[in-house]
Amino acid sequence: MQSSSLPDPADVVVLAGGAITIAGPETSGPVAVAIRNGRITSILPRERARELVGSGTEILDAGERTLLPGFVDPHGHFEVAARTRYLTVDCRAPRCSSISDVLEALRQGLPEARDGWVIGQGNLFFDKKLKEGRFPTREELDSVSRDVALVVRAGGHVSILNSLALERAGIDGAYVEADYSITGRPSVMRDAKGSASGVVKEMDRLLPLPDLSDAELDTAIAEGLTELYTRYGVTSLGEISESRAGLGLMDRGHAREQLGTRLFAYLWVPGTAELAEACDYRSWLGLDSDPARMRVQGVKVFSDGGYSAASAAQTRPYQLEGHGCGEMAMSREQIIEAVVRTADAGLQLAVHANGDRAQLEVCAAVVAARRGLPATIPVPRIEHAGNFLPDYDAAVNAWAEAGIVPVPQPVFLQNFGEFLPEYVGDHAWHTQFPFRRLLDDGWSLSASSDVWVGSEEQQTNPFVSISCCVNRRTFHGQVLNAEQAISVDEALRMHTLGGAEVFGESSSRGSLEVGKLADILVLDRDPRRVPVETIASVQVDQVLLSGRTVFRRDGGVPMRQVSAAQLGAVRP
Ligand SMILES: [Zn+2]
Repeated sequence: MQSSSLPDPADVVVLAGGAITIAGPETSGPVAVAIRNGRITSILPRERARELVGSGTEILDAGERTLLPGFVDPHGHFEVAARTRYLTVDCRAPRCSSISDVLEALRQGLPEARDGWVIGQGNLFFDKKLKEGRFPTREELDSVSRDVALVVRAGGHVSILNSLALERAGIDGAYVEADYSITGRPSVMRDAKGSASGVVKEMDRLLPLPDLSDAELDTAIAEGLTELYTRYGVTSLGEISESRAGLGLMDRGHAREQLGTRLFAYLWVPGTAELAEACDYRSWLGLDSDPARMRVQGVKVFSDGGYSAASAAQTRPYQLEGHGCGEMAMSREQIIEAVVRTADAGLQLAVHANGDRAQLEVCAAVVAARRGLPATIPVPRIEHAGNFLPDYDAAVNAWAEAGIVPVPQPVFLQNFGEFLPEYVGDHAWHTQFPFRRLLDDGWSLSASSDVWVGSEEQQTNPFVSISCCVNRRTFHGQVLNAEQAISVDEALRMHTLGGAEVFGESSSRGSLEVGKLADILVLDRDPRRVPVETIASVQVDQVLLSGRTVFRRDGGVPMRQVSAAQLGAVRP
């Protein structure tokens, strides 16, 4: 254990039965963690706690429980999820396991119609997750209501509309789809007679859906951050931006110290801003928060699409008719321009590249762009690299040559691991989430939630993601490629220090070490000692941000306040 000789008295001392420090001092048995000015100043065996205490020190006792550093999630669409949480009726499987459950949930939501609309949220691959193995039909939605426009957003790419919603959106027999909407190429599915079936793809941005007022968005963000992230112990989050209004409200919440999760914003180009505007964000986004709580970290661009729409750019063709190898959404020149301009602005570039061809393209562009740049530019990230590697060697060699950091999402193993082979071929049974091999090959990995419309209910819970790493269970409970499982300790590191490394912030967070931010979790059980199949059920009882409590779980035991006298403290 580390200790400096008789440090200044702490502002706060946390006592606990044990600590998982990740990269900090090996601890076994009870500990005392001292915090001063929001940072960890000492970690000692508990019996030496009195050395840390002065007259003004607050002493918090977690009893037998275990401490963990706050989780660091480098990639989520928190604003999208917060809006969705606020505005939609939850129809997701397995909460709704059949089409009749979905229809009933929508029926229950009718009294909360807004501007004559009710929006249901289904999850990604919704058709495969419902008992019937298909989407609800337009007629089935009509049976819920013909007077309220109904739309079920089955993830962010596919939606199902009732007749009134189609009418309000102007989708009739003569409707001609636009060439491009912000998430991909829109299309309206039609029956044999040419009338719209109710299923539309990549159309959500073109539908006249109701929006939130600023006051509602403020509430949605404050409640959403607590419910989606803080309560699960995520104390640092990479937020892929949605709206400028949303960023402003997050900043206001942090400036008032009302939010419990630090935010590293990546400005979504072109959804939130054009590339030039994003690189010049200071001219339009004045942030009042302490930069340790919220700051702009980078820019996020999409170089290809997603697997659920068969638009990820692959080297091999899809198994589905008419999809070829998917499509790149950016040219090499555009990617090079994004690398160069963000580097000039001191911003980190995060490129969404789902397919292996997209990853090779992005790496080639990064290699080309870097020739003209100093070696010290913020390390470019490739989002989703590490999830699916049909040709492992080609991919990791390209990553290494380009010097990118891969940003995988273990939780997708549960979302779609068992559905992917049908889209891309049987090799996907053996080539998804090869975390064992990547760690053995020396790659440092992070883990992120990538929460959006259509995420699973607990997609933002790192213990669910950790379970995906160690148990590798799919949505329907199959084990996917067991030999790629990693240990609990390795998974904990991915979700803490691994995330910090993505931001270039491994010296400030991600482990319990002297000098780091006092972002500390009190867990109800030690995740290293529970049966591994149950690890997703480990709960966070209390969350400290800079040593201050920002979350206490209902039904969890709060830390007990202890007086210096009770501790037998002797220092003045
Ligand atoms: Zn994302």
